[in-house]
Amino acid sequence: MPSSIAVIGSGFAGLAAATTLADMGHSVIVYEKNDQAGGRARVFEQDGFKFDMGPSWYWMPDVFEDYFRRFGKKVTDYYELKRLDPSYRVYFEDGPVDIPADFEALKVWFDSIEPGSSKHLETFMKEAEVKYDIGMSKFVFKPSHNVFEFAELNIAKDALKLHLFKSFSSYIRKYFRNPKLLQLLEFPVLFLGAKPEKTPALYSLMNYADSKLGTWYPMGGMHEIVKAMVLLAEEKGVKFRYNSAVTGIEKNGRQVKAVLVNNGERHACDAVVAAADYHHVDQHILPSGSKNYDEKYWDKRTMSPSSLLFYLAVDQKIDGLKHHNLFFDTDFGQHATEIYDTKEWPEQPLFYVCVPSKTDPSVAPEGKENIFILIPVAPGMQETNDTRNHYYNMVMDRLATHLGTEVRPHVTYKRSYAHKEFINDYNAFKGNAYGLANTLDQTAFLKPKLKSKKLDNFYFAGQLTTPGPGVPPSLISGQVAAHELNKTLSKKVEVVVEETTT
Ligand SMILES: Cc1cc2nc3c(=O)[nH]c(=O)nc-3n(C[C@H](O)[C@H](O)[C@H](O)COP(=O)(O)OP(=O)(O)OC[C@H]3O[C@@H](n4cnc5c(N)ncnc54)[C@H](O)[C@@H]3O)c2cc1C
Repeated sequence: MPSSIAVIGSGFAGLAAATTLADMGHSVIVYEKNDQAGGRARVFEQDGFKFDMGPSWYWMPDVFEDYFRRFGKKVTDYYELKRLDPSYRVYFEDGPVDIPADFEALKVWFDSIEPGSSKHLETFMKEAEVKYDIGMSKFVFKPSHNVFEFAELNIAKDALKLHLFKSFSSYIRKYFRNPKLLQLLEFPVLFLGAKPEKTPALYSLMNYADSKLGTWYPMGGMHEIVKAMVLLAEEKGVKFRYNSAVTGIEKNGRQVKAVLVNNGERHACDAVVAAADYHHVDQHILPSGSKNYDEKYWDKRTMSPSSLLFYLAVDQKIDGLKHHNLFFDTDFGQHATEIYDTKEWPEQPLFYVCVPSKTDPSVAPEGKENIFILIPVAPGMQETNDTRNHYYNMVMDRLATHLGTEVRPHVTYKRSYAHKEFINDYNAFKGNAYGLANTLDQTAFLKPKLKSKKLDNFYFAGQLTTPGPGVPPSLISGQVAAHELNKTLSKKVEVVVEETTT
């Protein structure tokens, strides 16, 4: 029997949950506090420039393909993907290196840095591929309600190959010694999660995603994925209510009966998928007695970094930058300590510069450059008046040193974004950018649960629950939550049918 379902939030998780439920025949309304869909992947336009506000790395293309295939569609029905080559440029202290898309060329570069390391890279990558395959086929689509889901014999056997209990840091040091190679392999876990010492070696699957599956770009920008997902959702009958913050719920015993929107309107529903930041929903939307956790629990979670971001319009082309540029010209370890241990503003942070106008003429006027700068910083930080200027000038100085030219005088528009905005715009706990860190004690069934413990018709989705942070995991999270909710609703129907026939 079709139910009427409220989805809170229109990020990747909310869109995936809504579309999956609508495809199952339910009637779905998405409530989004902002004026557009996409959540952290929103977009804004200024002076002819189009800025993606959040994600910029399109990794794991198989997950997107799989998503659209579930609805009888293909990625190419919606947007054009381009594989980037080089995948990205890394500025080390002694200059830039382009990381080739071609794995054989990557091996040649590894050997040039550490003779003989290409053999190790092959072994490392084979193990990473196994992790990716097992992870994608057996783990990420598990709802992770409890450890028993992972106790089937073949999964338990596979778990050994996942190196769950080995740290990423010691694992890669088994293969490589050169600091450049180590930095290159550690950056995906450092940017998206936690210190490599605290991250399970399982996450070397990200290196497989990077080096083998490739770095892609949807022409028109990352927001094209959101547009595609909204279009598909609407085709399935999903309705969207923008500027509609869910501020509470109404319940009867263990059943949610309605969502309360913008502190006033009541919208009746049979079930809810909450795909806004989990902490916000748990602590600020659910009434006392219906929360999954308390504030103490949340305070003990290790959050992924927040980010200090700059969106820049630049009035000329800038040589020396590729589409993706990582600045690893300072001490990796110190920055990691400042993000994860001492939780302070970093002294000499690593940073990332994205220039999508190198690939895509539609994101900047001709002859100009669209630049996005990201500095990973600890969550929960306070700013002084000149914090942003300080880091802007630091990054501009370092860019000038590396590029041999000043970008600053050519900046015609600048917008910055950090904790304050993450909190205001997304209700982000401690101003986090990418949810919970991928530490061992926050993996799979140890993450905040997908299912409400107190309400039978209430599920969570998004980057703070399983399977984790990043666009592909959020997309998967929404689908898993939708399937779990649908199972619950079907059981409820069976019970009602049984009751009426006896
Ligand atoms: C700067 C940055 C760079 C990133 N780079 C990458 C990258 O390159 N590649 C990658 O894969 N991932 C990247 N990520 C991570 C990725 O963007 C996220 O993991 C993913 O977008 C999270 O999706 P979500 O649906 O879980 O949450 P969100 O995108 O945050 O969606 C939640 C939605 O809920 C809405 N909401 C909140 N409260 C309410 C309420 N009370 N009522 C109604 N709606 C509400 C919010 O407005 C938002 O639209 C990046 C993130 C950031 C911030």
